[in-house]
Amino acid sequence: MQRYQGRRRKRGVYIGPAHILLLLLVVAIVGLGLFMLSRAGGDKKPEPPVDNDSTQTPSADGKDNSSGGSDPLPGSLTTTSGIPCTLTDLGADAVYTGDLVLVNNWTFFHFPADQEQQLRCVLDNKTGSYFVKDSTVNLLPHALDALNAMMDAFHAQGGSKSVNVVAGHRTEEFQQHLFDQSAERNGLEHAEKYVAKPGGSEHHTGLVVDFSILHSDGSSEEYKGAGEYAWINENCQNYGYVVRYETGKEDLTGIWDEPWHFRYIGIPHAVEAAARDLCLEEYIDYLKQFTFDKDHLTIQCGDGTYEVWYAQGTQAYIPDSGEYTVSGNNVDGVVVTCKVQ
Ligand SMILES: [Zn+2]
Repeated sequence: MQRYQGRRRKRGVYIGPAHILLLLLVVAIVGLGLFMLSRAGGDKKPEPPVDNDSTQTPSADGKDNSSGGSDPLPGSLTTTSGIPCTLTDLGADAVYTGDLVLVNNWTFFHFPADQEQQLRCVLDNKTGSYFVKDSTVNLLPHALDALNAMMDAFHAQGGSKSVNVVAGHRTEEFQQHLFDQSAERNGLEHAEKYVAKPGGSEHHTGLVVDFSILHSDGSSEEYKGAGEYAWINENCQNYGYVVRYETGKEDLTGIWDEPWHFRYIGIPHAVEAAARDLCLEEYIDYLKQFTFDKDHLTIQCGDGTYEVWYAQGTQAYIPDSGEYTVSGNNVDGVVVTCKVQ
C-alpha cells in the first residue's frame, strides 16, 4: 500500500488573511483529494506484491490447483471399502496413457515413444477361433488376450470361426494414407465424415480391432454384428470390449455406425458403459462425478467388484497394494480402478 503521500505546501509571497484562509481551504481540499486518490489507486497497483507473499503462493507453486482449495490434501486416506491410498503425483504422461484414453477427431492420441515395442503380432499370438488378415495386424498384449478370450467364448457357444480381424494398431502415417486415399476416391467431405484424421483414430491406441467375415470359399463380407455374430456385439463387454460407434451417438463420437469396430477399455468399464448405454465420450464425462472426496463408483461384473474414482490433473490417490489400474482419460485427468477384495 502506498500509505504516504507527500503533502506539499506552497509558499506564498505577500498574502492577506482572506487569502490565507482560502489557501488553507484549497490545500485541505487538494490534500483530501490526494488522500482519496491514494486509497483508490492504491488498491489496484499494490495488489500483485500482496499476492506474492501471501495466499496465492502455494497453488501457484503447486501448479495443479485442481482440488479447488488451497489447503494441502492429506497424504494418505482410506476409501469407504477399506482401500488404503496414498496421494501420488503420476506425472504429465499419466493423462494420456491407459485403457480409458478417449481418442476422436478433436481429442488426438499422444503417441508414446515406446509403443512399437509394446505391440504384439496377432497372427503369432492368436487362438484358433478366428482369422487375422496378415502379420501386419498388431495389438497391445492385454487387448490381444481379451480378443482371444472373447473369440474362444464365441466359438465355444456355437459361433463359427469365420471372423477375420482386418485391422488393429495403426500408425499416424498409415491413418494419413487412409484419409488421403478416401479423399481422393470419394472427396474430402466423405473422408472427413467416415475416416478419422491422423492422430484422431482410436486404432492408434493398439486397443482396437475391426472385424470382417471370411467365408470358406475365400470371399469376404462386411461384419454387421447380426445373426450369429450378434453374440459378439452383445457380450463383448464381458471381455473388456465395447462397440464403439453406434447409431444415435454420431453427434458425440463423430463417426457413423460401425458394428465391426471394437475398443478395449477393460472389463469393469466396458460392463458399466454398456449397461448405461454410454459411448466413450459420455462415459468419460460420467466418471468425472466420482472424485475421491465423493462417493466412488462401484462396478460389479463377472470379473469381481471394482471401486472406481476419478482425479482431475495428475495427482491421484493410488491404492497402497492390491489389484488396480490407473488410466488417463486423454482429456484432463486419471481414473483409478481397484478390485475390491
Ligand atoms: Zn476401426
